[in-house]
Amino acid sequence: MNISSSLQIKQGCSNVPILKEKGQNEVFCGLTGIIWLHRKIQDAFFLVVGSRTCAHLLQSAAGVMIFAEPRFGTAILEEKDLAGMADAQDELDLQVEKLLERRPEIKQLFLVGSCPSEVIKLDLSKAAERLTLKYAPNVRVLSYSGSGIETTFTQGEDACLASIVPTLENTPSEELILVGALPDIVEDQFLSIVKNFGITNVSSFPSRTKNKAPKVGKNVRFILSQPFLGDTCEALEKRGAHHIKAPFPFGEEGTTMWLQAIAQSFNVSQSKFEEVTNGPRNRATKALEKIKHKLSGKSVFFFPDSQLEIPLARFLVRECGMKAIEVSSPYINKKIVLSDMEMLPEGPVISEGQDVDLQIERCRSQKPDLTICGMGLANPLEAEGLATKWSIELVFSPVHGYEQAGDLAALFYRPIKRREVLQI
Ligand code: SF4
Repeated sequence: MNISSSLQIKQGCSNVPILKEKGQNEVFCGLTGIIWLHRKIQDAFFLVVGSRTCAHLLQSAAGVMIFAEPRFGTAILEEKDLAGMADAQDELDLQVEKLLERRPEIKQLFLVGSCPSEVIKLDLSKAAERLTLKYAPNVRVLSYSGSGIETTFTQGEDACLASIVPTLENTPSEELILVGALPDIVEDQFLSIVKNFGITNVSSFPSRTKNKAPKVGKNVRFILSQPFLGDTCEALEKRGAHHIKAPFPFGEEGTTMWLQAIAQSFNVSQSKFEEVTNGPRNRATKALEKIKHKLSGKSVFFFPDSQLEIPLARFLVRECGMKAIEVSSPYINKKIVLSDMEMLPEGPVISEGQDVDLQIERCRSQKPDLTICGMGLANPLEAEGLATKWSIELVFSPVHGYEQAGDLAALFYRPIKRREVLQI
């Protein structure tokens, strides 16, 4: 890929009218983020203050066995709490006391709000302040909402990270933060590339433990690795840090441009950039060569779910030759996805929000070769003969960066292949 030629594309879908829909939508709530966040932040515990439904969601989505002692749980609001007959704050204090006594390895406790805690207006930020005073300095207690009333599933991560930002220490030094919870293997690849550029003051957010948290200040620059981190981005900017804007690191092209944006911001020379990236770039190109002819010419329809839709559509269209019919996202924050929109060639309907019945009709009438959607829609659409991919898998799996470019394309090819086999 020629980097400068990609940078010259300055229109794409960035100015096309966005179809905005408000109606019934089919998206998981923000509690889902706990499933990958509890693996990433190794000294944290996520205590959902919610109902049995919330507990079931977490238990089944995470597939956790009882003996595994997971680092999340649900403090279930009983009827007497919901009816205001018990002081839910006192009950919560008691549960936290028991938990911290039993699990001394916990250094960060997140109280996570849910639909029921919101309905009874349980003030979890007040609880977090009170409990932080009680357990400081050993344990830091924070709160955020994962309620389905307020959040879609990837917004849970955004709300969690945004809640941590005010607690980060200040620094006057020039530093780089890679923002977004990535699988450790991908995070390590990115850190290694950036360090090879000569940028040594680099950290990840969220950090794996509290004592490795990055510092912020006006000489700190950060880049997002996930497009759903709008609140976190704003919170970091409020602390004076500078946002490096770039397309997201999916595929060879996206990863190159993302790293290029970092390199330019830190005055890394072009020769150094090429020396460090040429090897992995070539591997990514070769891996994509093997698979892209299988995707080329096939059509894809994105239902709104993870907020990864626009960057992924850009990857599928530009690097795999697919034809996007509709690219839909729960929210479109142009401040964050503008570069990807500029690179996504005009053609697909770009839609924001959802009126699920209308959208299903559009999808049926277009008969795409591949439909990316939530779990709830996938089975019925499969039964109607469409090949589907669960969007949540794209959040769990290692899909960012050069070494994963081939795997990312393969994830999209698998359902198409399965359907082809079924039709034989
Ligand atoms: S937070 Fe709301 S939407 Fe999510 S599991 Fe609990 S009740 Fe359901």
